[in-house]
Amino acid sequence: MEKSDTNLGEVLVNSMGEQVSQALSDTEKIERIQYHFAEIMDILGLDLTDDSLKGTPKRVAKMYVKEIFSGLQEKNKPELTLFENTYHYDRMLVEKDITVYSNCEHHFVPIIGRAHVAYFPHDHVIGLSKINRLVQYYAKRPQVQERLTVQIAQGLKEALGHDDVAVVIEADHLCVASRGIKDTNSKTVTESFSGKFKLDTYRENFLAQIANNK
Ligand SMILES: [Zn+2]
Repeated sequence: MEKSDTNLGEVLVNSMGEQVSQALSDTEKIERIQYHFAEIMDILGLDLTDDSLKGTPKRVAKMYVKEIFSGLQEKNKPELTLFENTYHYDRMLVEKDITVYSNCEHHFVPIIGRAHVAYFPHDHVIGLSKINRLVQYYAKRPQVQERLTVQIAQGLKEALGHDDVAVVIEADHLCVASRGIKDTNSKTVTESFSGKFKLDTYRENFLAQIANNK
């Protein structure tokens, strides 16, 4: 057993970003998922006494709660530190090629891609790595790419206190590549443009920036 957590009664967000009360600690979640995942493996006819398989239910449960779905828990939301824009930088800032590992909420298989995020600083700039952390936080949920794009944009707008924000995500969906239609070439591109990025010049400038290294 895990050492017990003290996060009982924590606030949790659902995939829509709405807060729902959640009485389970991480330890309880892991124990319950472990139990149910063992059931799934058993139903599939896998031998849970096999040396290689017996640890799988617990491994999967820990991975779900602590890693790939950790973004369902508000406590894991990164603090977005702002710094005074003392150098009066007033041009677009682009953080591109941010690695995205998420999971499709319809099939629970990976979405793998890149996010490109841009904003115009006003009085404050944001710590660069915080943009990556914000992307990771929202990616670590069962997702659809459209919602992920909107949530990243929204999170950044809230942190900055204004709307001059753009997000583009291009991603492969393994549920499309490895099953169903089995298309390994298609990519899904989603975008969110607000504030200044609604203007053609700024939007085109941003799109040119992220097109450079393809
Ligand atoms: Zn899917």
